[in-house]
Amino acid sequence: MTLDPADWDDTRAVGRAMVDDMVTWLETARERPTWTSVPAEAKARLAEPVPYEGESLAAVYEAFKRDILPYPTGNIHPRFWGWVMGTGTAAGALADFLASAMNNHLAGYDQSAAVIERQVIAWLAELMGFPADASGVLVSGGTEANINGLMAARVAKAGWDIRAEGVSGGPPLTIYGGAETHSWIHTACELMGMGRKAFRAIPVDANYRIDIEACRARIVADLAEGCRPIAIVGCAGTVSTGATDDLVALRALADEFGLWLHIDGAFGALAAWTDSKAIVAGQETADSLAFDLHKWGYMPYEVGVALTRHPDAQTAAYQPAGGPAYLKSAQGGIAVETAFFADRGLQLSRGFRALKVWMSMKEQGVSRIAGAVQMNIEQSRRLGDMVAAHPDLELLAPVALNIVCFRYAPAGMEAGALNALNPAILVALQERGIAVPSQTVLQGRFAIRVCNSNHRSRDEDFDLLIEAVVRIGAELAARPA
Ligand SMILES: *Cc1c(COP(=O)(O)O)cnc(C)c1O
Repeated sequence: MTLDPADWDDTRAVGRAMVDDMVTWLETARERPTWTSVPAEAKARLAEPVPYEGESLAAVYEAFKRDILPYPTGNIHPRFWGWVMGTGTAAGALADFLASAMNNHLAGYDQSAAVIERQVIAWLAELMGFPADASGVLVSGGTEANINGLMAARVAKAGWDIRAEGVSGGPPLTIYGGAETHSWIHTACELMGMGRKAFRAIPVDANYRIDIEACRARIVADLAEGCRPIAIVGCAGTVSTGATDDLVALRALADEFGLWLHIDGAFGALAAWTDSKAIVAGQETADSLAFDLHKWGYMPYEVGVALTRHPDAQTAAYQPAGGPAYLKSAQGGIAVETAFFADRGLQLSRGFRALKVWMSMKEQGVSRIAGAVQMNIEQSRRLGDMVAAHPDLELLAPVALNIVCFRYAPAGMEAGALNALNPAILVALQERGIAVPSQTVLQGRFAIRVCNSNHRSRDEDFDLLIEAVVRIGAELAARPA
């Protein structure tokens, strides 16, 4: 018995239809609503019992087209600007298909896929201004990439064998970062057994950047109390407003106290490839840098990058203790470097993420990807200017990168009313299929938050957004309470 198709020609035919349909689907993204809820009929059809008996691939594909494909997240649409989401590319999708067909196991091994992952890591290190001997690994996303950096910091800076002894083997470890640091930092501290209290959330200034002097004062105070500071986390693009910390000052502060500087550049790091690179100046001096390619690199989910200039620390954080016999590298054969990549991160069985990275970079060319990033920055500045110039709109944070936070705020409306009206405007934008921004709260003010990492957006899409917010705002404000 085998799970291969009984008739390979059938599979070929369905496969061709899939490619045709999906390329058309991407080509026509603009014609559909940005987002639609999954209708009850589709959910009811999908709530099937366990399918013990199979059916044809063609029939299963029909079910996909009817009940799954029409109700996506929406992030491939030109007016999707919620959270921080990537928009994908056709070539990236095709590369994922090729990678799945090859079905490589990327712990390491002597194979072309490992050559490609090394190659893209080298390209990415160079593009980020890291040295040629920097080490890196492709991971599931920014969360894992950030945790990867702090795992290395923990081993390098704890001062005892923390992998053997755990956190109780020495004084309490502490980590510093701005209060705007993404919530992965809590997950990281919890997973590393340090508890969330190990993260010192330092106040930010009016531009949402870490207060450097407050950070220094906290490090000094912690040292006096017998804590062991190990790392500072700098933000290249915070999730709420897109602010970037003074990374040059953070490097100096880290050096002053012998700390590891980790930078979370989940999306902002990509600015380093563009004419706007000054925004993230200093990022290239990080001990470790985390960034996503599935956000502002426009590649399909999932792919993030954990880079470090300390290859030994990265493997010291992850290599299995003692080197189990079943993972030993051999003198020849396939297993020359069995776990080359697995030793740098959490995953042992790993897929061929590197292929979509390699194909996207080669097909588009890095200049073109960087050009789209720069376009998004300029579109965001333009949107910020439009908001600032509009009498009924209020900009709620500086447009530092690609995020615009604003609200509908006609003259005379009170704070409470604004905080009730703007969430309703946001929901209406989404439910009417017009656009998908998301939300944040800035100094108690509810903000409609537009994060532009969308290579399909055009100026006219932002014009349409402004028009819709003002129109819906006036419509909802006029409704009797
Ligand atoms: C998205 C994001 C993360 C988490 O990355 P994932 O790829 O979602 O795991 C971390 N930091 C920032 C600033 C982000 O925007």
